[in-house]
Amino acid sequence: MGAHDEIRAEVRKLCLNFPGAYWRELDRNAAYPQAFVKALGEGGWLAALIPEEYGGSGLPLSAAAAILEEVQRAGCNGAACHAQMYIMGTLLRHGTEAQKQMYLPHIASGALRLQAFGVTEPSSGTDTTALKTTAVRDGDEYVVNGQKIWTSRAEHSDLMLLLARTTPREQTARKTEGLSVFLVDMRKVKGLTIRPIRTMMNHATTEVFFADMRIPASALVGEEGKGFRYILSGMNAERILIAAECIGDAKWFTEKSVGYAKERMVFGRPIGQNQGVQFPIAKAYARLRAAELMVVQAAALYENGEDCGAEANMAKMLAAEASWEAAEACVQTHGGFGFAEEYDVERKFRETRLYQVAPISTNMILSYLAEHVLGLPRSY
Ligand SMILES: Cc1cc2nc3c(=O)[nH]c(=O)nc-3n(C[C@H](O)[C@H](O)[C@H](O)COP(=O)(O)OP(=O)(O)OC[C@H]3O[C@@H](n4cnc5c(N)ncnc54)[C@H](O)[C@@H]3O)c2cc1C
Repeated sequence: MGAHDEIRAEVRKLCLNFPGAYWRELDRNAAYPQAFVKALGEGGWLAALIPEEYGGSGLPLSAAAAILEEVQRAGCNGAACHAQMYIMGTLLRHGTEAQKQMYLPHIASGALRLQAFGVTEPSSGTDTTALKTTAVRDGDEYVVNGQKIWTSRAEHSDLMLLLARTTPREQTARKTEGLSVFLVDMRKVKGLTIRPIRTMMNHATTEVFFADMRIPASALVGEEGKGFRYILSGMNAERILIAAECIGDAKWFTEKSVGYAKERMVFGRPIGQNQGVQFPIAKAYARLRAAELMVVQAAALYENGEDCGAEANMAKMLAAEASWEAAEACVQTHGGFGFAEEYDVERKFRETRLYQVAPISTNMILSYLAEHVLGLPRSY
């Protein structure tokens, strides 16, 4: 993706302050990259998509994609803060003017963190409409009960965008109805418990419990009962941004593979002289370039206000596969050193694996393409 060269150069410069040693230390201690997120926030990068009238820079989606791609390409980890870019869109599109005025300028300045997105639940998983967390209206409040899982960054966020059922499923005509979105100020509520989950990579993810958690009725975003549609409307942007991260990862792995293959001498010659070493890297590179084209196309359609559901989904799937293939080639190229912490390869390998599962699993993308694009019969 050649566009946004100045933005890319600036982000690359910022990332130089956060080298591999910084991430390795955090990884060892399962610690959150506070300083990195602060630097990105202060640089205004996390406010890229917030319109200028609310204190952001009002950049197009392709610019936000370029920011995240460069973060990953530099060996950093945007998963620590990427959610703010796309969650914010729900508030922007469906919030009232008062909500936007109240939150967006503070999110843009970095004073407020909107990093937590509470959708997934332990018993419903990918079947989002089967979620069980309820929000029941009581006067000028809602009372929330239930549980979320994989609510990443909840401990490092002030606000959470929460999806909960406001009308029991049996009282709605369709399962997609009766769900509502709330912007929960986690600093001001009681009955909220957050428990970290240790994962394969350092991700600051958690499970969250709501026990009679009272939130003001004004926390409702948009109309009651339409929350599922609101969440869906933000998915294309999310897919494109995550795909851009994968492209960044794939480039990092490829550059690392090429550098090592040129330097490492075995049998009296660089290992990169062997076609057995070259070809997996070259193949992964071709896949990355192809996936990148799909990301560019998806972003262009999105920016033109055209339907980009198919392209955004394909971009996400192809880019996640490309980053994984590049990661695999990188480990193989490094031989034993691919497993040594100090090369960062094993860390990035663990980190990039996530993208085939979250925020959406590859199977769900294939299912979307099969049914909604190719017109095959519905499977669920
Ligand atoms: C580190 C991490 C961070 C996350 N962060 C967040 C977050 O911040 N907020 C949030 O809400 N969620 C988050 N998630 C949740 C993530 O979106 C889900 O893990 C993902 O959507 C899959 O849901 P599941 O884990 O329940 O898998 P399941 O739904 O149980 O699926 C398990 C497997 O079965 C497959 N499968 C299920 N049904 C079908 C079907 N009909 N056809 C074909 N295959 C099927 C899936 O593709 C998957 O491979 C995160 C997850 C992880 C691991």
